[in-house]
Amino acid sequence: MYYKSGNFEAFARPRKPKGVDEKSAYLVGSGIASLAAAAFLIRDGHMDGSRITILEASKLPGGALDGIKHPSGGFMIRGDREQSDDMECLWDLMRSIPSLEVENASVLDEFYWLQKDDPHRSLRRMTQNRGQPVPTDGKYTLSSRAQLEINLLSITRDEDLYDKGMNEFLGKDFFESNFWVYWRTMFDYYDWHSALEMKRYLLRFIHHIDGQPNLTAVMYTRYNQYESFVLPLVTWLKQHGVVIQYDTRVTNVQFNINPDRKVARRIDWIRGGQPGGLDLTENDLVFVTNGSLVENSKWGDHHTPATLDPEIREGSVWALWRNIAKQDPAFGRPDKFCTRPYETSLTSASLTTLDDKIPPYIQKITQRDPFAFNGRQVTGGLSTFRDSGWVMSWNCQRQPHFKAQPHNQIVVWISGQLDAEPGDFVKKPMRECTGEEITREWLYHLGVPSEQIPEIAAKSAICLPCIMPFCTAFFVPRRTDDRPNVVPEHVVNFAFIGQFAETERDTIFTTEYSVRTAMEAVYTLLNVERAVPEVWGSMYDIRCWLKSIAVSRDYERLELPGPLMAVLDRTDIGDLLRKYGVV
Ligand SMILES: Cc1cc2nc3c(=O)[nH]c(=O)nc-3n(C[C@H](O)[C@H](O)[C@H](O)COP(=O)(O)OP(=O)(O)OC[C@H]3O[C@@H](n4cnc5c(N)ncnc54)[C@H](O)[C@@H]3O)c2cc1C
Repeated sequence: MYYKSGNFEAFARPRKPKGVDEKSAYLVGSGIASLAAAAFLIRDGHMDGSRITILEASKLPGGALDGIKHPSGGFMIRGDREQSDDMECLWDLMRSIPSLEVENASVLDEFYWLQKDDPHRSLRRMTQNRGQPVPTDGKYTLSSRAQLEINLLSITRDEDLYDKGMNEFLGKDFFESNFWVYWRTMFDYYDWHSALEMKRYLLRFIHHIDGQPNLTAVMYTRYNQYESFVLPLVTWLKQHGVVIQYDTRVTNVQFNINPDRKVARRIDWIRGGQPGGLDLTENDLVFVTNGSLVENSKWGDHHTPATLDPEIREGSVWALWRNIAKQDPAFGRPDKFCTRPYETSLTSASLTTLDDKIPPYIQKITQRDPFAFNGRQVTGGLSTFRDSGWVMSWNCQRQPHFKAQPHNQIVVWISGQLDAEPGDFVKKPMRECTGEEITREWLYHLGVPSEQIPEIAAKSAICLPCIMPFCTAFFVPRRTDDRPNVVPEHVVNFAFIGQFAETERDTIFTTEYSVRTAMEAVYTLLNVERAVPEVWGSMYDIRCWLKSIAVSRDYERLELPGPLMAVLDRTDIGDLLRKYGVV
């Protein structure tokens, strides 16, 4: 497996790898990582789809990419998933998957045309004082000190960031800036989260620095990601003969371990409550998603709070990884990530409006009509209440957000980052609230008059809270080797995929990361002759660095000494500094 960028490899069609007709594949979990791996096995590895089996613990595919209607009538999504144009492996995959919405188009075509017709932009990224604009919205408000600290963090060696929180590198100025509000809410970052991952993020997305305050950097699918990504993928895989076995909790993968040869020899599972398994040969390839941000998710409803379930049971994804990790030090350290559920949890809520009482408040803030129901964006991404105790954000995406959504209902996704802190109207932690209480707090910050809030919250919406205890587990301070490599050294027929497998430079909490690890896994185990696309290379692009200087200063130009500027002006550097607004 090797990386390359550019068109030569992008359009190349790899030939059939040797011996693939004798191989079979077993994929544990049916999140986007496994679905992508199955698709790459077929498309680039020329494996017959009927030789691929996906083993999934639950009754539905898609993992974290969910979207379903609740029996009470509300719609459920655990997350709002932003995409961006630099997701190289995701788009490489989606160009080959037929759209279910647009005839003769791929999922990528459908997505691309949507962005052309309705380019993404937020008209109000933050509000305060119950629905009022924030005068500095759109500016980063980073002091010189905060800018310096970010720059220093970006160039600190990885080893010096091991096991450290970013609050050991960034100070008070940084955490009081708008930059931090935009950042923490977009990526669900806490100040104690991994400095190493923060560095990766800063570098990975440096080209998007000017697109963060107004969210022009991100893009959304037409519907929720279950309908827009998972269903087309699953449909295509099934057409190719791939089998998904639900209600199958894999408990272990057993290995024969020799120093220079590590072979997966058996998969153990519990299916329909019964223990079982499968003996493997070296021709059986196993791909395991060794951790999940939505493991132990628990839903409440409009009248019942969700519960935080911290327990790791037999058959859980964490127990599976623990059992695998016990067999070899190269298989990672799951306990680094899964032992702090009260700190890594995130509470979100899916809210469905039932009448015309709430939408005018949405329109007032977003400056777009949610009832237009034309597939165009409404909030244009996350909108954050700057002065909310829960650090509450909400997103009214393209409506309808579900194909089955009635015309008089609007679906909104809500999250509270500090879900253990008291709210401002509802004086208790978000994670202890019913859907109705969360609706009250949201309406309060939206600017609904206080005396109307109880009745509107009771009658005009269904709100379904969800607690995900491991949602930010991958941001826990760590070392590079806490996560196993996608294919650890000397492993013959096994790969780790998803957010807890290590690949260089890319950043977690993205669909791209899962798809990238899947592609790398397939290309390594089958020795596919084509390159995996390199992680977007903007961190090596001087233009992006110059732009980042200008933007992080809110476009206040640098005053360089006259003699120095005179020297620079005799070079291309002077032109570049001016072109990107640095001087
Ligand atoms: C709130 C939230 C916001 C997000 N925002 C974004 C965003 O803005 N942009 C973005 O790109 N991404 C975002 N994501 C992340 C993205 O959705 C995930 O990173 C990605 O979907 C993970 O896919 P995966 O296949 O690696 O793992 P998962 O989707 O977690 O899949 C793991 C699968 O394994 C199954 N499983 C677990 N244990 C077992 C077992 N023992 N045996 C068999 N199967 C098992 C699970 O049921 C599940 O189906 C967000 C996610 C959430 C929750």
